[in-house]
Amino acid sequence: MYDLRAQRLFLKRIPVEGVEERDLYLGNTIVVLSRQLKITDYADAFTREQITSKRQRTFAMVKPDAVHRLGEIVDVIQSRDFEISQMKMVQLTRLQAATFYREHEGRPFFESLLDYITSGPVVAMELITTNAVKKWRATLGPTDSQEARSIAPESIRALFGKDKQLNAGHGSDSDISAIREIEFFFPSSKINDDLLPQTTAKLANNTCGIIKPHAVSKGHIGSILKAIKEEEFDISALQIFRMDKVQSEEFLEVYKGVVSEYPGMVQQLMSGPLVALEITSGVHGPQTPIKFREFVGPADPEVARELRPNSLRARFGEDIVKNAFHCSDLPDDGPLEVEYFFKILQ
Ligand code: GDP
Ligand code: MG
Repeated sequence: MYDLRAQRLFLKRIPVEGVEERDLYLGNTIVVLSRQLKITDYADAFTREQITSKRQRTFAMVKPDAVHRLGEIVDVIQSRDFEISQMKMVQLTRLQAATFYREHEGRPFFESLLDYITSGPVVAMELITTNAVKKWRATLGPTDSQEARSIAPESIRALFGKDKQLNAGHGSDSDISAIREIEFFFPSSKINDDLLPQTTAKLANNTCGIIKPHAVSKGHIGSILKAIKEEEFDISALQIFRMDKVQSEEFLEVYKGVVSEYPGMVQQLMSGPLVALEITSGVHGPQTPIKFREFVGPADPEVARELRPNSLRARFGEDIVKNAFHCSDLPDDGPLEVEYFFKILQ
């Protein structure tokens, strides 16, 4: 690395822990020796070709009938080597649904499709891999779930769908559709609010959870979502965020000078995409924040494995900084932390 401002060598070739080959692409941000670095170009044409061919994008959506099985579906996605680079749980309005599906306007099933797709939250995703559009359509299977069960029994629509309409998932049918659909849910510049699908966050009677970047990069999103559901907590909002140093320090401010791991915690939170969650629960009621905290487990995964082997940190944590999951400490913090992601960073 060469420091352009000081006009001198900044760093010789060294191994950098936590940066993988798949993190090296245009537009991404990586952290090297505590410096957050943005990749702004490829050094040569060969590198560009090698990397861009592995990084095609497609748009995926888990439809309302399958959102209760999100963890299992994300498991399939991650096990087939798709990178989930964006993810957001939203509630579509009828106007948004009609705009998204405008190619089907006039078809006999159009109104019923709009009823279905607005009947509850959906989870929108941008997926990245080699040949992403084709690969995701193949992973989804045929439009009709009944047909999928006979000709593609391992496909998502076969496993999680019901019939020709309630078919669990959506996938772009071409590169052009993929670009349009990703832009619809994850606009690169500010658009008319009426057309921007809104988060499902309730912002009250909740607690906040974060799947930390190291656990996202290890492919644990699906397993963690499944584990949360098994304990009868509901995920009432979910979104991938990328935090910079200022945001990470701001979010973790209360730990500054209190816990010795604070600098490491800040580094971890800004090291890559994280999944922010709003957790609610009809079953646990007002006890939700306390019960959820117990389920997350002690901060140190070693301790967690001794005391609470079923906790999230026991199962997915590596060490006290890479402890897989953050959750609100006190019941009063929950709504504030949820608001930080789903209102302020939004
Ligand atoms: P896709 O690209 O495989 O999702 O299929 P289409 O673009 O043809 O249709 C969009 C969505 O409309 C499908 O995923 C189904 O949810 C729904 N759909 C498609 N065909 C029918 C149909 O014949 N009847 C009903 N009720 N719904 C349909
Ligand atoms: Mg289609």
